[in-house]
Amino acid sequence: MTRVYLGLGSNLGNKRKNLEDALSFIKERIGTVVSLSSFYETAPWGFESQNSFLNAAIGVDTFLSPVELLHATQEIERLLGRRHKSVRKVYHDRPIDIDILLFGNKVLHTEELTIPHPEMAGRRFVMEPLAEIAPDVMHPVYGKTIRELLSSVEN
Ligand code: AMP
Repeated sequence: MTRVYLGLGSNLGNKRKNLEDALSFIKERIGTVVSLSSFYETAPWGFESQNSFLNAAIGVDTFLSPVELLHATQEIERLLGRRHKSVRKVYHDRPIDIDILLFGNKVLHTEELTIPHPEMAGRRFVMEPLAEIAPDVMHPVYGKTIRELLSSVEN
């Protein structure tokens, strides 16, 4: 079993409900949710939108492999009505986005999946909720804790 951390975000429809629905699916299909951050309202990032985001981070104990976890999170995104994938970094409004932030201490880089999530450390909307639930967890590539990494996020 592995402790994983996921980042959740929604900027379409009933955002709070979208996050709560994602949580129900995660409990059903991925594992035991052991920690849940507050919900943070954040400005859209990387694209123009009228709609602010609601972001959260969760810790989950799972028996899935990294790729099984990715497929499970993608299936949950589809079930919650996500229509577009980002293509070449063009982002869209989305009912739900689920990112795999950390997968235990694993470091993985394939065409489909990079763990830890490559952009997490530069994004306040990821690091702030994550630091609320996992301040002392070590980032396996940077060798710093989430609290330390949050203190050096610039935006
Ligand atoms: P996005 O549309 O921004 O959620 O990006 C999804 C794409 O990123 C998917 O096609 C995944 O294969 C890829 N990806 C790579 N690493 C990760 C990760 N750690 N968590 C989620 N998606 C990832």
